[in-house]
Amino acid sequence: MIYNEKMYELGSKRSAIRELFEYGKKRAAIVGAENVYDFSLGNPTVPAPDCVDETIRNLTEELDCIRLHGYTSAQGDEETRSAIARFLNKTHGTQFHADNFYITMGAAASLSLAFKALTTAPLDEFVAIAPYFPEYKVFVEAAGASLRVVPADTTAFQIDFEALEAAIGKNTKGVIINSPNNPSGAVYSLETIKKLASLLGVKEKEYGHPIFIICDEPYREIVYDGAEVPFVTKYYDNTVVCYSYSKSLSLPGERIGYILVPDEAYESKALYAAVAGCGRALGYVCAPSMMQKVIARCQGETGDVELYRKNRDLLYEGLTAIGYECFKPQGAFYMFVKALEEDADAFCERAKEEDLLIVSANGFGCPGYVRISYCVDADMIKRSFGAFERLYKSYHN
Ligand code: PLP
Repeated sequence: MIYNEKMYELGSKRSAIRELFEYGKKRAAIVGAENVYDFSLGNPTVPAPDCVDETIRNLTEELDCIRLHGYTSAQGDEETRSAIARFLNKTHGTQFHADNFYITMGAAASLSLAFKALTTAPLDEFVAIAPYFPEYKVFVEAAGASLRVVPADTTAFQIDFEALEAAIGKNTKGVIINSPNNPSGAVYSLETIKKLASLLGVKEKEYGHPIFIICDEPYREIVYDGAEVPFVTKYYDNTVVCYSYSKSLSLPGERIGYILVPDEAYESKALYAAVAGCGRALGYVCAPSMMQKVIARCQGETGDVELYRKNRDLLYEGLTAIGYECFKPQGAFYMFVKALEEDADAFCERAKEEDLLIVSANGFGCPGYVRISYCVDADMIKRSFGAFERLYKSYHN
């Protein structure tokens, strides 16, 4: 192959989720959009909060074109980074300052930069806890390291600490956690975070080098029933937070987020510089200028999480009434459901016969389950129950 084979492979195969979404569009053209129940993607349906549009309107009037659309400094506008620091400090009682933040094009970019900045040798490993976001493997391998997966705790979808301990070794650079979780909807409890911090503290001593927690947090604000998402930097020094406004402000296509490197992290200034170096080497230049200004003025705002909560309840009640075994999500906008046969891929294929587009969790490292994304129209959820019931009956008659 004359081209980069690994990149060719990534670019020529769509992800299973994208494949399903494209299939849904084709089916809609044949049977009508109202007869296809597409629960595949995690594209927010709740509108961005009013402050987003208002800020964009104001910015176009207030700022000249260089300030609005010009290059910003590589790490992001000082004003934006300070606004984020102020907001987090007020909310979590932390002591961050502007220079702890590097503004990125969303969590995907934050994670890619973090893995690359932390990788120093080909044997380096990052640990993901199933069920996990499949792109971690792509980002980790692109950074030159490899991904090791810890099997899921399928009772509470917290962390199986015995399995995690067995997965950590001398080459472990970091453990990736994602809470609220895509796809399980679980939120890691304070007890889980403290236990993780304590285990990694022991392992750092044992191996004589830092082991980072990489917090992937695009769903931080999307929680239900008063669930609290502990702020991990308060419990573990070697933490890097990869945040995104894709879900909280419903801006996934605008590509904006940040990496937080706290002062407490091991040689934090060097790590921050390595993150900036990765941004430079990958040609990111700077994050979108106008969006940087938008987030500076929309700190603490979110889309209407209550709408996701209503969808969660509607779907959970509907599916459990039919007989499905569902994990009740505490956050994010995905329902994790036990497949009705061992092979979740086969179950999802059978669901397609009812034009139900749901995602097998085999790709999330958690066989036997499916993910149903409920950032969709509530009417579609209601209309889909007949199809879910027929699918269920097809296994139980
Ligand atoms: N991490 C998780 C767990 C996600 O679900 C997603 C997107 O769905 C991302 C990262 C990437 O988000 P972003 O749009 O901020 O790149």
